[in-house]
Amino acid sequence: MDYLPIFLRMQERVAVVIGGGPVAARKAALLLQCGARVTLVAPELSPAALALSAPHPGRLRHLAAAFEPGLLEDAQLVIAATDSAALNRDVARAARERGLPVNVVDDAASSTFILPAIVDRSPVVVAVGSEGSSPVLSRRLRAQIETLLPAGLGQLARLAGSHRAQVRAALPAVRRRRFWEHFFDSPAAAQALAGDEAAAATFARTLEEFRAAAAAPGEVYLIGAGPGDPDLLTLRAARLLQRADVVLYDRLVSEGVLERCRRDARRVFVGKEVGAPPPTQEHINAMLVDYALRGLAVARLKGGDPFIFGRGGEEIAVLARHGIPCTVVPGITAGLAAAAAAGIALTRRGVAQTVTFAPGHAAAAATLDWRALAGPRQTAVFYMAVAQLPGLVERLLAAGAPPARPAALVAQATLPTQRILKGRLCDIASQAAAGQVGAPALLIVGDVIGHEAVQELAQSLRGTAPARADL
Ligand code: SAH
Repeated sequence: MDYLPIFLRMQERVAVVIGGGPVAARKAALLLQCGARVTLVAPELSPAALALSAPHPGRLRHLAAAFEPGLLEDAQLVIAATDSAALNRDVARAARERGLPVNVVDDAASSTFILPAIVDRSPVVVAVGSEGSSPVLSRRLRAQIETLLPAGLGQLARLAGSHRAQVRAALPAVRRRRFWEHFFDSPAAAQALAGDEAAAATFARTLEEFRAAAAAPGEVYLIGAGPGDPDLLTLRAARLLQRADVVLYDRLVSEGVLERCRRDARRVFVGKEVGAPPPTQEHINAMLVDYALRGLAVARLKGGDPFIFGRGGEEIAVLARHGIPCTVVPGITAGLAAAAAAGIALTRRGVAQTVTFAPGHAAAAATLDWRALAGPRQTAVFYMAVAQLPGLVERLLAAGAPPARPAALVAQATLPTQRILKGRLCDIASQAAAGQVGAPALLIVGDVIGHEAVQELAQSLRGTAPARADL
């Protein structure tokens, strides 16, 4: 980011616009709308510029003169909008010498600031910029945003703004944010958006009811973060991440997903850190309960889906015992994401009717039904597979799986570092060792591998070419 996006207060400030044509008139109109006092410097004015003064009496001054640096004496902001590039550059130089912010129309290089494309729902204003790289793209985005934002947004913001002091007086700091979240989902907000005058009275009632429920605990969102690519978050997960005051996250949660959290949310890492013992499950449970009982909205963010090898069931049981409301948001589990990335259909008519998700680490080995996992006409997906891969393959072979059964190892699925190895049970472990494939990775075993109709699909998903199956 090379530019700092800011909103500059222009009330009663003097802005000097050099130029008298339609472009200068448009810039001057925007400045007048913001309450600025505008001086237009141009030997003569176009009809568009002449028409500006009527709606803003006394705020527009016309200097019918050629530009000279002394005219910037009382300026606080300068816009050069003449049709002479050389003159515009002179203006920019003079402004810069005086330390004044200057914009040169269609010349980002000479400007010290650029004007964004805006969606105006005052007091809500959305500004879109491309740092001068493509004003047309900015305008297209602006048009898309226009269609997304309700016309009554300004009324809603004004209602909220006029009650801020009241809310501050009524509620302690930790509960205020939750009240506002509650309010924006409430009938009072819908009324304000619709321009209904009853909104103010409904607001007062909403605040009173919220205050009465003061002792209520916060809540926990148990959210599946998906395999890593933030595009694979659900809409609900993204929405609740914007609401949470605290986010407890695991090692498998990617940076891209964490960026979807509210900026001021507290992020607490509860995964394994190199060289340090990981927090125990009991410790994590206690933290969840503690934050929620303080009235906070807590997101418990887990890789993939919270209920697939995620201990999500244990966490909701603890919350239920404390009467803490909990919302579970499913996520795309790594097995599904890896299969999609590798173009492997986990079930396929006549080839495999069932899919099993199984843990691939040694601790689980004793209790798995290896004979069933080694059987035909099914697909097995082993999570936590990479550290113990040779042992895992040994057990499948010992239970009767043919050495030539196809197998695929997918690491870091959906991340830029994604890797896909395809082979057979007899060689997949040596391929993985030779290729130094690291965690997180999972192993897919079954005859569905090798039926991928579109190898290119796997490539186009991430731009990574999967090692071609040597089948
Ligand atoms: N709840 C998670 C699984 C947690 S167990 C889910 O539903 O996906 C952790 C294992 O998940 C890892 O050892 C690895 O086998 C698998 N895994 C998680 N993310 C992965 C990814 N992006 N690519 C490949 N495997 C992944």
